[in-house]
This record gives sequence, C-alpha cells and structure tokens, in this order.
Amino acid sequence: MKITRATVNITSPGRNFVTLKIETDEGIYGLGDGTLNGRELAVASYLTEHVIPCIVGRDPFQTEDIWQYLYRGAYWRRGPVTMAAIAAVDVALWDIKGKALQTPVYNLLGGKSREGVLVYGHANGKDIEQALEDVARLKELGFKAIRVQSGFPGLATTYGVSKKPGKYEPAERGLPPENEWSTEVYLRHAPELFKRVRETFGEELHLLHDCHHRLTPIEAARLGKELEPYHLLWMEDPTPAELQEGFRVIREHTTTPIAVGEVFNSIWDAHDLIRNQWIDYLRMTIVHGGGFTHLKKTADFAALYQVRTGFHGATDLSPVEDGHMYPGDAPGLGVGLDEKLAAKYPYQRTYLPINRKLDGTLTDW
Ligand code: MG
Repeated sequence: MKITRATVNITSPGRNFVTLKIETDEGIYGLGDGTLNGRELAVASYLTEHVIPCIVGRDPFQTEDIWQYLYRGAYWRRGPVTMAAIAAVDVALWDIKGKALQTPVYNLLGGKSREGVLVYGHANGKDIEQALEDVARLKELGFKAIRVQSGFPGLATTYGVSKKPGKYEPAERGLPPENEWSTEVYLRHAPELFKRVRETFGEELHLLHDCHHRLTPIEAARLGKELEPYHLLWMEDPTPAELQEGFRVIREHTTTPIAVGEVFNSIWDAHDLIRNQWIDYLRMTIVHGGGFTHLKKTADFAALYQVRTGFHGATDLSPVEDGHMYPGDAPGLGVGLDEKLAAKYPYQRTYLPINRKLDGTLTDW
C-alpha cells in the first residue's frame, strides 16, 4: 500500500478544527486531528508546505519510521506546531492500518484494558451558588466525576467560567480577549467552593479543579493543603510546568493528587515530573503529543512510576477524537468526516485570552 495524497481540511462549525486526510492507492483513507487552538493555520501550513510532500509514496504501515523521519529528520524538534502536525500524520496512518486490518486501532496498541473510560463534566458558575447548581445538573446527567470552577467576588472574569449559559469556550474572534486575575482573591475563596460542594453532595462524587497554571509552586502547595479535606481526584495545572522542579515544592507539602500536561508535546516535557513521582496524572494529548506512536511510549514510561493518564479532552480538540466513553468496534478510529458540510463553515481567526493581574501585569492565562 502507498500514500497517494494528503489534504488539510480547516473548518469552523462554532470553533476551528484542522483535520488531515491521507489517501492510499487501495482506496483506504485515514483521518488525523491537527487542531492547535488559536494557531490553527500554522499547523495547516506546516503540513501542506513541509510534511505532505515527504509522505506521498510511502508505505502507511510504517508508522514508526515515518514518525522518526518527521521528528528526527526535521532537525528542529518538538514544539506544539511540529508535534501537532506529526500527530495528525501518525493518527491518520494508524486509522489506515486499522481499516486495512479490519480492526479498531486499540487492538493494534495492546487491546482493551477496561470496559469504559471515566470522563468528567465541567461545572461552573459566576459564584459558588451557581457552581453548586451546575454540579447538581451534571450529577443528574450521570457524571461520576465533575470539575468545578467558580467566579469569585472582585474578579470580573475567571478561568473556566462561561460568560453565557452553555459550554465554556475560551477562544474568541478578534484580538485576544483580556482577563483579569488575583491570586489573593482566588486562594481566599477556592477552598470554600469545595467545602460547599462536599457539604451539598457528599463524598461519592469525584471532584476535580483546574488552577490553569496561575500559581507559584508555594501558592499551589498552600491550595493543595487546604483542599485536602475535600479529597480531590486531582488538582490540575497548579503552576506552569516549564519548571518541572517546581512540582517538588508542591509535592512536599500536600497529598492532593496533581495532574498536568495539556500543553506538553513531548516526553521531555514530563521526564523529571514522572521519574521523580511529582505528579499523579499526565494530561498530554494525542493531538499535541505526536500521536499514538509517541504518547503510547510516554504513557508506558509513566506507568512504571505509578503516574496515570488523564488525557486532555477540551473542546479545542476535534470531535473526531473526543468523547470515546466506550470503545467502539469499527475498524480504525471508527469516525468519518463530512467534507461537504465542513466546507460550509470556513475558518475564523480566533485567539485564546491573555491574562493580567489587577495592577495590569501580564500573567499566565
Ligand atoms: Mg486544563
């Protein structure tokens, strides 16, 4: 079998998605997601200008060789644009393999190891009362795990809280929206939020919370310690992870489990976090972490250190990969793409917000 053609589909049915379609001389095609929120066209261009010319004519079964060719062969390694492009190719090739062998991709990666995958819903509210109402709504829908975010007095905007009812979508058209932040306000109110959730809903629910990289290690340590009585499943992205050593400080002060990695794109972003057991869950995604080929190796390495996976599945990832609560039986990825329908929703430039402290200092969003 040979790759004959590859095309990049960019569509915006409410938000932007970049999908790579790889076709073969045997009529089998594969799909791979290359969506990088707020920087979509960079991945599309990387694929069209630099990657696709190199893969036409190759054997789509050679996923390892093609991965190494695109990673080592480019000389310029890593980075979200490069790794999202490599992931799009890798996932599309695994899709082709599965279809050619008439089996779901998971059977090529070791087979099912559980019947269903626990997923969590996002509860949010402009204040604690509204957040509690949203937790009740998701619990009613059947979620056993719920991430809870809330607005707090004195902050006009907060990460994870919708401006309008409905799903939280941070990317907006126009120039990047500006949010505001106060660590003091947040640390004063966040423990109260989880106290109220436990008082209202008891101990059965799995609770999660996303700090979205906004704390220093010692601030995150304080929050983790104060959240201990409420037994979170995880505290996510407590501090920016470029400084992997920072997680040691958090770990030394709290038993609240830590999850991180939605912006990671290589095992080298998490190597120290894993081997020192400074984290409990790795959130690196298939789409930004080089596809199945690289993420499987990373997850296997993490498993040796009792670090589990909780892959990021936000709405900025393609619905082509999202939402597999139970594995299906269709060959390959088990999904298709309606290209005619996609063409009705052209690309719209959007940006994720930036974040400033109350005195105007730019900080992490
Ligand atoms: Mg997150």
